[in-house]
Amino acid sequence: MRLFKSLIALCVILSISVADAADWRDKLREKIPESKRLLLVLNDDDEIQVGRQVTANLLGVAPLVKDDGLQRYVNTVGRWVATGSERPDLPWHFGVIDSADVNAFSAPGGYVLITRGLYASLSDEGELAGVLGHEITHVVERHQVELMRKAMLLEEGRKAIEKRLSGDKDELVKRLVGNGAELFARRLDQDAEFEADRQGAVLAARAGYGPYGLPAVLQKIASVAKTDDRVQLLYKTHPAPEERLRMLDAVMGPEFYKYDRPNAGGKLYPLR
Ligand SMILES: [Zn+2]
Repeated sequence: MRLFKSLIALCVILSISVADAADWRDKLREKIPESKRLLLVLNDDDEIQVGRQVTANLLGVAPLVKDDGLQRYVNTVGRWVATGSERPDLPWHFGVIDSADVNAFSAPGGYVLITRGLYASLSDEGELAGVLGHEITHVVERHQVELMRKAMLLEEGRKAIEKRLSGDKDELVKRLVGNGAELFARRLDQDAEFEADRQGAVLAARAGYGPYGLPAVLQKIASVAKTDDRVQLLYKTHPAPEERLRMLDAVMGPEFYKYDRPNAGGKLYPLR
């Protein structure tokens, strides 16, 4: 009998929370216009604030390579590629971090980092432009913001939404950064990765490098053994390079050859 009562109590609790969920969803619909409902309600300044914090957290663990010339160079190339994107006015920041891993990261608001290990594997500036174009696309399309939003909805649900509606932006940014602490080790949607590859190749081409830098880098990554420590995180956070190449090939096809600019890559700033 006691068990029966507890079961009824549980059912009541469950039905209340389901009704509640429907209720706050309705409230949300009333207060947030259709166009903004799917996006986190963050303006560029909020995004920059979140990205700066998350990037500072990462740099605490993996600092920048101590070579001002190298950092200046990567910023020059990155900003040039970002100029052709749909968010050219973000305060873009690029950097090479001191890690033997082969990887690249980005955070909301225009923060892009690549590892020394990945930089060392590049053959020319066109390949760098392709890699940066991929990360720039994650920022432009707000892929991380969307990931954070989903995580926040899952983890904090109604509480977070209410906070958001109350307009406490500082609190919201704190929560997002909290969720974003492990952002760099999280996997984005596969579709977001394929979109970043596609769009990254387009951005590199638009910047005058030709579209084949990124596929060339993916080929190099595919040739590294999957068990190699340096690519472990990359494999965890991205689809396999062979799969990415297949997807790129399907969209690029022969059409892209006309944008090819052999030797347009130019020399890379040498690593010390
Ligand atoms: Zn990516």
